[in-house]
Amino acid sequence: MQSTLMLIKPDGIEKNLEGPIKRMIEDAGLVVTHEKEIHPTRSHFEAHYAFDDEWKRNVGEGNLSLCEKMNIDPNEAFGTNDPIEIGDVIRDRLIEYMLSRPIKAFVIQGEDAIQRVRNLSGSTVPARAEPDTIRGRFGSDANEQPILEKRSIQNIVHTSGNFEEADFELKHWFPELYSQDLNYNPILS
Ligand code: ADP
Repeated sequence: MQSTLMLIKPDGIEKNLEGPIKRMIEDAGLVVTHEKEIHPTRSHFEAHYAFDDEWKRNVGEGNLSLCEKMNIDPNEAFGTNDPIEIGDVIRDRLIEYMLSRPIKAFVIQGEDAIQRVRNLSGSTVPARAEPDTIRGRFGSDANEQPILEKRSIQNIVHTSGNFEEADFELKHWFPELYSQDLNYNPILS
């Protein structure tokens, strides 16, 4: 058994998707063991989204190519044409979006839960996500509009990407589970 973290992002909350998302999780044979509304601080999200330079460079380079295709000046869109700095701007926009309202956090448990919940969420870009995934079914955002509107991609949910992220993120968002039960170990149990 494994547990993993899901956050329902502000657009998912605004569209009242907690119930439908929970049903998709349960239909996949997984269980939501804990859930709560959270009002996170900026520093809590800064620790959660501690991206390395490789992530920033990848995202920055992807956006530079898109700017070229769309005939947009990256200096106008991001205030810089350096890929890592573009990655930093996108991270800042992501944190602004995540802070825009209270959100919901789920602990989800099941066999191979980390990968299965990741698959159930679908591609980062909803327009490219499969229709039977959460992002494909409930989201519609693509890569271009966020550049023009100087905002993050809105994609309904966050889910832990791998074992290390799940371990860190469960402790980060649900510390009470660990302090109430000193033997609590959702990843290995
Ligand atoms: P995921 O959430 O699918 O694991 P990442 O960890 O790579 O994706 O990115 C974190 C979040 O940052 C995404 O869910 C999305 O909201 C936002 N994001 C990622 N790439 C971009 C981008 N190119 N432009 C705007 N926002 C982005």
